[in-house]
Amino acid sequence: MDKKRRQIVAGNWKMNLNQRQAIELTNDINEYISDHTIPEQLKVVICPSLPYVASCAGDVWEDTKPIFGVGGQNCHTESSGAYTGETAPEMLRDVGCEYVLIGHSERRKYFNESHAFLAEKVNKALDVGLIPIFCCGEALDIREAGTHEAHVATQLRESLFHLSKENFERVIIAYEPVWAIGTGKTATPEQAQSMHAAIRQLIEQQYGKDTANSVSILYGGSCKPANAASLFSQPDVDGGLIGGASLKAESFTKLIEIMMGEMGNL
Ligand code: PEP
Repeated sequence: MDKKRRQIVAGNWKMNLNQRQAIELTNDINEYISDHTIPEQLKVVICPSLPYVASCAGDVWEDTKPIFGVGGQNCHTESSGAYTGETAPEMLRDVGCEYVLIGHSERRKYFNESHAFLAEKVNKALDVGLIPIFCCGEALDIREAGTHEAHVATQLRESLFHLSKENFERVIIAYEPVWAIGTGKTATPEQAQSMHAAIRQLIEQQYGKDTANSVSILYGGSCKPANAASLFSQPDVDGGLIGGASLKAESFTKLIEIMMGEMGNL
């Protein structure tokens, strides 16, 4: 399939790995990228846990930099101040991050992050030059009630659709059905495609066709080598946000390989 949009294989390491493992995994990914001819249109991103994000970002090899980026898993809305335990987006930039996850379902659930707070985070991340990877997705009861598209539409409208067209085009969207995250239950390729197409349609209504066609929409939720090809081959799926399968070099690099295959680059 000839996909023109930026394709992305992104790993969300969550609260996993120790320092040695994080550095080893970063280097294994460096090695894989260095050993293969990876098209510039494909980006590989890792989001290590906070104590290791600086060393992982500093460990990206010079020759892999155009392909390989590092992101934070979260950021605050302020640049500095009395926010114990929080991280300013400027700090992520300062240590070499290019990306930041915003609105992951675990942040929404355990830290009660509201639509409005996420909108502020998106603004701030963009202000300092980070690319937000904005996560959206519905819980199982919402899917079962058949209101999943309306639910995701609200998440996008409330936290993203205030952006100018220019800023919106810098955002990456990750559709992550909550019932598929860490459960081993993946959305079928048809379910993923149908939601991604619905998201693109909403973007088109808000910003026009060119913007809708330019924004990368990733799928996340138990994506692994065994199911990635069928997901990545969907016309509106531009890669994956990967949790569990991003923690081992073997499975994560396999996902990069599968993506390259889908892009016709193997
Ligand atoms: C995630 O946390 O973003 C995720 C998709 O996790 P997993 O791949 O483990 O379901």
